[in-house]
Amino acid sequence: MRIITTLDEMIRAARGWLVGGPVGFVPTMGSLHEGHRSLIQAASEECEICVVSIFVNPLQFPTAEEVAQYPRQTAQDFQLLNSTNVDVVFIPRTDDIYPETFSTYVTLRGPLAERLEAVQSESFVRGVATVMIKLLQIIRPDVVYLGQKDAQQVAIVRHIVRDFDIDVKLRILPTVREADGLAISSRNAFLTPAERSAASALYAALLVSKALVESGERNPQRVEQAMLDQLRMTPLITPEYVAVCNPATFAAVQEIVPGTLFALAAHIGEIRLIDNILWMDDGHWRL
Ligand code: AMP
Repeated sequence: MRIITTLDEMIRAARGWLVGGPVGFVPTMGSLHEGHRSLIQAASEECEICVVSIFVNPLQFPTAEEVAQYPRQTAQDFQLLNSTNVDVVFIPRTDDIYPETFSTYVTLRGPLAERLEAVQSESFVRGVATVMIKLLQIIRPDVVYLGQKDAQQVAIVRHIVRDFDIDVKLRILPTVREADGLAISSRNAFLTPAERSAASALYAALLVSKALVESGERNPQRVEQAMLDQLRMTPLITPEYVAVCNPATFAAVQEIVPGTLFALAAHIGEIRLIDNILWMDDGHWRL
């Protein structure tokens, strides 16, 4: 496992990719867990070279305080990385990614840039789009591995790859969950035992939407209401949004058809969690 911390060295390494097999890239913000591991495992199995980046991207947070609060666990991250077949770990410095002279940002338009995650943080969409363009330029992968858990991030990356004609494939892997369905997240560790047990209501609410759709419900408002009711039934949970939407544009749908995303965000105490499930075009569910 080679550790690269400078842009120069990463760019030089990426020039060498041209002669090898496919390069898989897993962008992360560190605090690695089993969700990240599944992406790294797929990338190292499917590609010749597997690159993981660890970079807490300040641009995608609403405040500097939230950047500072983001958990950083480098020693544990290396423990996990050492148990995988990762080839290169890229850990750039913030000042190298965003030097003082940095002044070009990528902005998106439409519901993807206005709804769900974009409501709570104006900087989120611009931050994700800008850092992904930079990382893809620096690392030059053939395939980028992303988790379905961050559905809006997936949609943003799809858009920039298409709009900027970036020659990279996207591989989206299912959300890795705890036994009770809670999506694994570095934030789960901050939940008290009571909050942790309440947190399974998020996935339960998504399963309510799946059950309704399977029983023939096609009205998005009724499904959103059922998800909200389920969340509100659980003490300690404050719903932020529930949405039945198009997974590419994030526009609300008029009617539920295969290819519809069911997403939600909720606060449990101080912690904000997100989750989603996807009714895929082929009629299967990505849970
Ligand atoms: P992050 O470090 O939170 O920026 O996440 C890095 C990548 O890991 C993103 O593509 C996430 O969607 C993915 N990821 C995070 N949690 C999970 C999970 N529980 N299951 C699958 N992928 C995940």
